[in-house]
Amino acid sequence: MLKGIAGSQGYGIGKALLITDISTDYSKLKYTDAKTEKNRLQKAVDRFINETKALAESVKQRAGDKEGEILDGHIMMLSDPFMLSQMQENIDSGMVAEKAVDTVCNMFIDMFSAVDDELTKQRASDIKDIKDSLIKILSGAKSIDISAVPAGTVLIAKDFTPSMTSQLNKENVSAIITEVGGITSHSAILARAMGIPAVLSVIDATKKISNGEMIVADGFKGKVIINPNSTELDEYTKKQTAYLEQKESLKTYINKETITASGVKKAVYANIGRPEDVHNVLQNGGEGIGLFRTEFLFMDRNSEPTENEQFEAYSTVAKVMDNHEVIIRTLDIGGDKDIPYLNIEKEDNPFLGHRAIRFCLDNRELFKNQIRAILRAAIYGNIKIMLPLVTCLEEVHEAKKIIIECEKELSDKNIEYKSVSLGVMIETPSAVLISDILAQEVDFFSIGTNDLTGYTMAVDRGNPKVCRLYDSMQPSVLRAIEMTINHAKQAGIPVGMCGEAAADTRLIPKLIEWGLDEFSVTPSSILQTRKAICEYN
Ligand code: PEP
Ligand code: MG
Repeated sequence: MLKGIAGSQGYGIGKALLITDISTDYSKLKYTDAKTEKNRLQKAVDRFINETKALAESVKQRAGDKEGEILDGHIMMLSDPFMLSQMQENIDSGMVAEKAVDTVCNMFIDMFSAVDDELTKQRASDIKDIKDSLIKILSGAKSIDISAVPAGTVLIAKDFTPSMTSQLNKENVSAIITEVGGITSHSAILARAMGIPAVLSVIDATKKISNGEMIVADGFKGKVIINPNSTELDEYTKKQTAYLEQKESLKTYINKETITASGVKKAVYANIGRPEDVHNVLQNGGEGIGLFRTEFLFMDRNSEPTENEQFEAYSTVAKVMDNHEVIIRTLDIGGDKDIPYLNIEKEDNPFLGHRAIRFCLDNRELFKNQIRAILRAAIYGNIKIMLPLVTCLEEVHEAKKIIIECEKELSDKNIEYKSVSLGVMIETPSAVLISDILAQEVDFFSIGTNDLTGYTMAVDRGNPKVCRLYDSMQPSVLRAIEMTINHAKQAGIPVGMCGEAAADTRLIPKLIEWGLDEFSVTPSSILQTRKAICEYN
């Protein structure tokens, strides 16, 4: 039995499928002779060039010339006779083609990474791409299409990037298991949104589990059983059935009003990452969208979505939600959320770095594209804007100025739009401590306990060594929440919570007592959150 962190509730039973990085152990590969190896290398290079040319063409059509030219650059780099001749020399000295590629590319990567210039550094990551592709071709490794795995698959990987997780097909994936990540890592959040059981931070999972082995993943206790015996299989099949039955019984809460037993009205909203998640929200009786994590629109592509593409996404959600509130959070990037084409610089402390509202205020055009798209979409529903990671008043003032600028640009061009309310996430101790001042400046608050817990406790969300300190029930975090709610109440503005703690049944009674208005949770937690609120007296 392997132990990990319970990342998403449920029991997953199925066959293991490993998503592994390409192996760099070439010792088992057989070196026949230099001619054969050079032949293999040349064929791989030719295939790489042909495939990349075709890809560059299609990228130019889908995303524009600039993005396609990056791939043209890869072809040029590999066509450089110096690079190829270095690989051939290594083959002459007895290396298999894979190792020759690895060695020469690493030499270039080290050389480019050492230069203190962004463009040159970027070339290092281009070479890394070339290296991975060539080695994949040489070793015949096929990349797994996550969206097309067979039913009853338990996926195992070192980590699931948000873009990998967003390709998961919940009908076929019984569970996911990772070697890193904590309860509020973005892959865990997405797994919960899709109702896929997940066990995270299982040390050496990709080494201890083999492809095709039968796996039981317990998303409540964070346990993984490899090749369960018949008693264990029987026990977990029963538990799975009981859990699914209990989930079924919660359905009586779909159309119930969210009101405490003593008659206080509350609202249960949902957090989404993609427009299509909205259907899941409505199926579960969500009363609004308390957090639209727009960064997911920016993932899985080669360039940022245009204003029009974003307008489509936001207006679709607004229309489907049919006048129920839709709180759109502006791009929250950086920290653990990387988007390669935005070329965010590597930082020593990314969680304390150039992320979220800080990044947007320094990347005006990107920010303004998003704001204009939101303002235009606002015509179609009840949209609000929310700023992430606010730490000081100046950020709110600056964002307000930009919103006014965007409104003016739209009206100058006679483009229809609607002004919207502006709120901030309270997810840093600094925002909590000035929440009385912020409450005078904005229309609403939403408490982001995922980051707030991390920053208050000074603990990294994803580090298994310190994750026991990552607890929203710690007195300091509770005081921060209470203080924020008090300040919102004193200023007469609504206050919600969109961090994972909003669905924590240990905390819900306190949140009700303090006066939280809106609980925004992952769609699969809507019903149990409503049940807990309705049962509170
Ligand atoms: C939070 O920090 O609580 C939050 C909701 O934002 P995210 O998890 O997307 O950082
Ligand atoms: Mg956050």
